[in-house]
Amino acid sequence: MAFDPLSIRSQFPILAQQAYDNPLIYLDNAATTQKPLSVLEAMHNYYLTANANVHRGAHYLSDKATDQFENARLRVAQFINAPQQSQVIWTKGTTESINLVAYGLEHLIQAGDEILITSLEHHANLVPWQQLAFRTGARLRVLPLTSDAEWQEELTHYFTERTKIFAVTQVSNAIGVHTPIEMLIQQAKQHGAFTLVDGAQAVAHYPVDVAKLDCDFYVFSGHKMYGPTGIGVLYGKHHALEVLMPYQTGGEMVSKVSYQATEFNVLPYRLEAGTPHMEGAIGLAAACDFVDQQDRQSMLAWEQQLANHVWVTLQKAANVEIYSPEHNATLVSLSVPNVHTLDLNAYLDSQGIAVRAGSHCAQPLMAQLGVTGTLRASFACYNTLQEAERFCDVLIEAIDLLAEE
Ligand code: PMP
Repeated sequence: MAFDPLSIRSQFPILAQQAYDNPLIYLDNAATTQKPLSVLEAMHNYYLTANANVHRGAHYLSDKATDQFENARLRVAQFINAPQQSQVIWTKGTTESINLVAYGLEHLIQAGDEILITSLEHHANLVPWQQLAFRTGARLRVLPLTSDAEWQEELTHYFTERTKIFAVTQVSNAIGVHTPIEMLIQQAKQHGAFTLVDGAQAVAHYPVDVAKLDCDFYVFSGHKMYGPTGIGVLYGKHHALEVLMPYQTGGEMVSKVSYQATEFNVLPYRLEAGTPHMEGAIGLAAACDFVDQQDRQSMLAWEQQLANHVWVTLQKAANVEIYSPEHNATLVSLSVPNVHTLDLNAYLDSQGIAVRAGSHCAQPLMAQLGVTGTLRASFACYNTLQEAERFCDVLIEAIDLLAEE
């Protein structure tokens, strides 16, 4: 059955507004998604009925808050098929999750070791590894995935006995391609490397099964999957989380403290210093419910259909260079010869259409594509075909106007 975005649109009242006298069209979903009422209500209700500091066991409200907070952890564990809820570590988001792992593994990295990433990474999955390499004398290597991200036999040479960490995105935020994730993880594991998957652009669109993926770490942000900002997840296999040195220290992550020494708490608390983002975790659990209530297959097919519609229309009607794949992407990333993407962005914005122009935090990838930036329209479940069509019409109008000048 086809997915009907109108059936859920009423759950996103933010979309029903005008932007400069035009209906708002929100196509910047890869940056952050809008939040359904159920997520907003879950957070609101937490403050109305359960707010207290967690894990102190001090009183009725504290127990209530702790129950809701730990149930949220269980819900997220189920959402990604993590075997145990203690394998879900709360963070601020993907960026903090990756930094936590990069700092946490530092004590195992030596000069001459190799850290392997791919050419498709967001800066969040590049800079922490580069800085780790600088601090330890390890070498940062880059697996050159082509823009269709196909697996090629010669890539096996990048995995060596020295590869200690392999960090890879599941879906590129800048050009929407999927990496051959299972194959890559298998290669890295054959060489005994830790594997980290950046799922920031995957969780809103694809069912994630971390047990099946068999990666050591899987990271994502709540705000890109209809959840709140300021909350994210680090999933890890137990032994992989156990070897991480705590990235931050302080309250909650300790079991015994004296001036001479500190005993750290058990997982997951050992990696969660300070009072956590309780309402964020509860909001993220509500976002998991929202996503799982949808028919995920037809929701994904719908988002891909919208992206494909834009891809085909623009390929035919305009002088554009498109970097995202024709099929199976949920976003379209393009540039226009002799027209600055920022000018296109400004024109689209003036018509109420929100997209994103720039390097998308992937400057090395942009350099590889030979551009300084692209224009990206990214789709979510609430976007309609009319919105995709209007985006194409207004973009073509902008190109005609700006190319003339
Ligand atoms: N990785 C990818 C693939 C992303 O798209 C993003 C967000 N644009 C990040 C990492 C960083 O996520 P956050 O800013 O939520 O930490």
